[in-house]
Amino acid sequence: MKRLVVLGAGESGCGAAILAKEKGYDVFVSDMGTIKPEYKALLEQNNIRWEEGQHTESLILNADEVVKSPGIPQTAPMVKKLNEQGTPILSEIEFAGRYTHAKMICITGSNGKTTTTSLIYDILLRAGLNVGLAGNIGMSLALQVAHEQHDYYVIELSSFQLDNMYDFRADIAILMNITPDHLDRYDYEFQNYVNAKFRITRNQHKDDAFIYWSGDPVIDREIKKMQPTATLMPFGLTKTTGQEAVPLNAAYIRGNDLYVCAQDEPLVMPTTELNLKGQHNQLNSMAASLAAQLLHIKNDVIRESLKQFAGVEHRLQYVATVGGVRFINDSKATNVNSCWYALESMTTPTVLILGGKDKGNDYSEIDQLVHEKCHTLVFMGLHNEKLHQHFDSSGLTIIDTDNLHDAVIGAYQAAHEGDTVLLSPCCASFDLFTSYEDRGKQFMDAVRAL
Ligand code: ADP
Repeated sequence: MKRLVVLGAGESGCGAAILAKEKGYDVFVSDMGTIKPEYKALLEQNNIRWEEGQHTESLILNADEVVKSPGIPQTAPMVKKLNEQGTPILSEIEFAGRYTHAKMICITGSNGKTTTTSLIYDILLRAGLNVGLAGNIGMSLALQVAHEQHDYYVIELSSFQLDNMYDFRADIAILMNITPDHLDRYDYEFQNYVNAKFRITRNQHKDDAFIYWSGDPVIDREIKKMQPTATLMPFGLTKTTGQEAVPLNAAYIRGNDLYVCAQDEPLVMPTTELNLKGQHNQLNSMAASLAAQLLHIKNDVIRESLKQFAGVEHRLQYVATVGGVRFINDSKATNVNSCWYALESMTTPTVLILGGKDKGNDYSEIDQLVHEKCHTLVFMGLHNEKLHQHFDSSGLTIIDTDNLHDAVIGAYQAAHEGDTVLLSPCCASFDLFTSYEDRGKQFMDAVRAL
């Protein structure tokens, strides 16, 4: 009997363990931290042995294969030992992919993954397809493969998941963009992170599709270098005049319309009809529509979804209007690039709340938009020194806070009727909150209490 060891008992680890057990493996789950009660219960129910608070070498190094949680870095001592002795280490997606013939629609990128993945899922559901949502969102792919038989999976893939994928093949691979992120996990070498993202094209055939943002210089450079095998399907914001021939297998903006041309009949739709606002959401909509057209979904169904899809929580989420001031929760903006897109989409004078755990940010990327759109900046963090250094000379009103309550009150007092207060922090949340969801939720509660 083959032995599979799972390192990390979260959603993906437990799913992989259950699938492996079903497929006849001898399974053992090991977690250095504390396993959540619901996952312990799930492992018990399935008669899977587990440990927490330690990694027992004698129970792990005898594995034929290991499934590693994406949260565990390659530098973790146990991972190093496994690598040294040549034990294959897989991601849960790689493992689950062995046991399904479903069509795989996979989405990666530095920003926009969850929105695009959820939008594609929404379109496929509306079209009546038997589809599962997996990866960083919702239930693990492995658990769905074990218990449900979907014909399609829409999978959000982080670079960490891609790192341990080898034979997996995406029928449709989508790469939204690549900007520096998570460099601490890639030896501070941007190219290593780029290479991880491009693993999404691995094993693709000519008949598969690679959908990507054509406006991204990094993606453009890499494509020229590595010449992916799959059919290339770019999308971009470059406006065409309407005189040029319609490019096939592409999505773009013509005049004020979105054009998506992966079917005989192009989808044409005024951008004003998109429910999700902002340039970045035009890009997300184009990527999603190209994928949907490739799956032969009717343009009417795609159009309906684009008109109605309300977005995902904590991403430019409307909270409330209080005293004529609109409050927007963009807590998921954990890097500077995503804040750039949030600011770009603002249509009123803005009070921006930012700050948190800095990941080596360069705020000059948002300087111009901050000047165009904001009159007040509210810093919310335990260490606001870097923000002060960068913005104090900007001439804008600066409010310094070290907690969410003061930040919301300060922003409200600084805002005028008709303004927007935008929480788009550019930073991770771990100085004051347990997660970006916690930060967003606390923000919404504070706004509703005003
Ligand atoms: P991810 O899953 O990659 O973190 P999300 O869809 O959760 O992406 O969006 C995170 C944040 O990134 C949003 O709050 C928004 O401000 C910004 N964003 C969304 N889509 C894009 C995009 N295509 N390009 C750049 N930024 C984006």
